[in-house]
Amino acid sequence: MRIALFASKPYDRQFFDQANREGEHEIVYIEARLSQQTSQLAEGFPAVCVFVNDLVDAQVLQQLHSGGTSVVALRSAGFNNVDLKTADALGIKVVRVPAYSPYSVAEHTVAMILGLNRQIPRAYNRVRDCNFSLEGLLGFDLHGKTFGLIGTGEIGRVVAKIMSGFGCRIVAYDPYPNQQWAEDSDVQYVELDALLEQSDVISLHCPLTPDTHHMIDAAAVQKMKPGVMLINTSRGAIVETQAVIDALKSSKIGSLGIDVYEEEDKLFFENLSGQVVQDDVFARLLTFPNVLITGHQAFFTKEALQQIAATTLQNLNDILKQGSCKNQLHAS
Ligand code: NAD
Repeated sequence: MRIALFASKPYDRQFFDQANREGEHEIVYIEARLSQQTSQLAEGFPAVCVFVNDLVDAQVLQQLHSGGTSVVALRSAGFNNVDLKTADALGIKVVRVPAYSPYSVAEHTVAMILGLNRQIPRAYNRVRDCNFSLEGLLGFDLHGKTFGLIGTGEIGRVVAKIMSGFGCRIVAYDPYPNQQWAEDSDVQYVELDALLEQSDVISLHCPLTPDTHHMIDAAAVQKMKPGVMLINTSRGAIVETQAVIDALKSSKIGSLGIDVYEEEDKLFFENLSGQVVQDDVFARLLTFPNVLITGHQAFFTKEALQQIAATTLQNLNDILKQGSCKNQLHAS
């Protein structure tokens, strides 16, 4: 199959070329993101391959359809950037990579928790400047603390296992609870409000949907323990950023770790050093000493990239040979 791979980076080329070493597919790597302005680059390609910040809205899908594209292959698990209704109506098949190394995201989540709690980035910078003062670096034992998990899917369950290892008590909220896993793992499902009220650390692992959009808003923050640590490695818009900034200013939120940001499509995955940040909300976040931000890198391990490339090409093979694929998405 001829595949137009949008938003490609050198690491995408490395892992997709490796997965395609027998040359079954012709992959054309396009650096631009897919958008209404770039969709014409896919003309004549039966398949396009996209990532989290490519725009696959109704207009782009219409343009792809006119250009002869019949499959959109997401090299991600999340699919909030695709208009599935329009894709179905146009007969464009959409496939994704539902599960790839949940360990990649789970381990990054825990790296953020430890980095924030023990202030590793600040300590690193201090020591490089021969400042060995411990003032302001005080952390807390994770052992014995209550860890609140929102979303107990592939990634959430791995996070729970790691945090149990630290001796945390785990409470979880998920509208589709996995009771057997909870029993086996000593995790207690509670209502969302109870989780917000009880947790010392809260970590988000649910998808971005109309239900979860701004799930963490001012009212949710109000219910949290003073000094809570909030971690989001899921999708930016689950958190209402301004509400969290207000809570950081009042110390209601004690620390914040984010790998994703509501408006990340204008920032992440590009080297913007030397440019003036135009996003004032993001710029404000950068000023807090108790905020740790990474640029959507939680998935970024060798194992995850190998699995993403292999599953994406397998999805396209299935569509090509059988006309369907187990990882196909439909408008509900
Ligand atoms: P998953 O589908 O296995 O699990 C998601 C869980 O969230 C499910 O158990 C589901 O029932 C639950 N859920 C749905 N609606 C909910 C709600 N309103 N409240 C609480 N829980 C709800 O997905 P996963 O593989 O664990 O991934 C979770 C999310 O992580 C993805 O949706 C994606 O947005 C994000 N992600 C981020 C990165 C990254 O690099 N930062 C990489 C991969 C995935």
